[in-house]
Amino acid sequence: MNLKEIYNTKQKPVISYEVFPPKDDTDGEKLEALFKELNKLLCYNPSLISVTYGAGGSNRNESVEIIRRIKEELKVTPMPHFTCVSTSTKNISEYLKTIESFDVKNILALRGDIPKDGSVCNDFKHADELVSYIKDNTNLSVAIAGYPEGHKECKSFEQDLIYLKQKADKGADVIFSQMFFNNDHYFSFVEKCEKIGINLPVIPGILPVSSYKQLFKMADMCKVEIPLKLKETLEKHQDDSDYTKKYGIEYASSQCEELLQNKVRGLHFYTLNKSYAVGQILKNIL
Ligand code: FAD
Repeated sequence: MNLKEIYNTKQKPVISYEVFPPKDDTDGEKLEALFKELNKLLCYNPSLISVTYGAGGSNRNESVEIIRRIKEELKVTPMPHFTCVSTSTKNISEYLKTIESFDVKNILALRGDIPKDGSVCNDFKHADELVSYIKDNTNLSVAIAGYPEGHKECKSFEQDLIYLKQKADKGADVIFSQMFFNNDHYFSFVEKCEKIGINLPVIPGILPVSSYKQLFKMADMCKVEIPLKLKETLEKHQDDSDYTKKYGIEYASSQCEELLQNKVRGLHFYTLNKSYAVGQILKNIL
């Protein structure tokens, strides 16, 4: 199914998961572990599983293999992520042909982070150019990334929104949001998107917190707020990993409940390749 069909015709809420190709997996053990985890989450009827793409295509082959297995073994619609900033048009064209040869219908079109050494390719400077290219050259349905608290590089939130509209208008079907821990940012973002004329589903990205250190690292990297209550609770129990995981599940469950009360079209879970927390959250809310 393509993204339009999934988000317009599927029963609400649409459940989706994000996974990443395991690192340093020479013997394939981590890949098998990932599929075991995904199998445990099939009972919540996911409509989509997305697979991240390493900066500059570092894990391209692994990504493609995971996409193939999601489709063939799990019988779930896969959505590869793809970044363009360090890749030539020729490479992009080859990649798109490869995934279309597996009958993949969807893609998340991204610019990607600018590499620290500045080694960009310059064929594609921003994700909107990639969206246009994909729409002109394939039949893929395209998702794009949105940032409820603004993208970390943006000079102003308003300008970020104008660029988001530009990207949406090139033919995107859905927006997947960056993680957030304060739902107000999401609600305000959706309202501002509507006001500026972006009429696409904005799917909230949910990260169940499982480690104090990891939360701070990720929040700092993505420039997202950690609400005081979450911060204080995790700080107080930072040496108690069982408590942190339990609290992370409770926190994300109440975030999801409020989002569902506000009629979101779907929930996209950043699984970090693990099933337990996401499974517990879905058990709590569905
Ligand atoms: P863009 O939409 O191009 O925006 C990047 C910046 O440029 C923004 O500040 C924007 O305001 C500005 N901008 C946009 N268009 C223009 C323009 N025309 N002119 C001037 N400025 C402009 N990264 C990975 O490496 N692999 C992944 O798999 C991955 N998956 C992700 C999934 C989701 C749901 C999200 C939210 C992010 C993901 N990322 C991933 C991170 C993403 O690659 C980075 O946030 C990257 O820095 C921006 O990508 P983008 O597609 O949002 O870029």
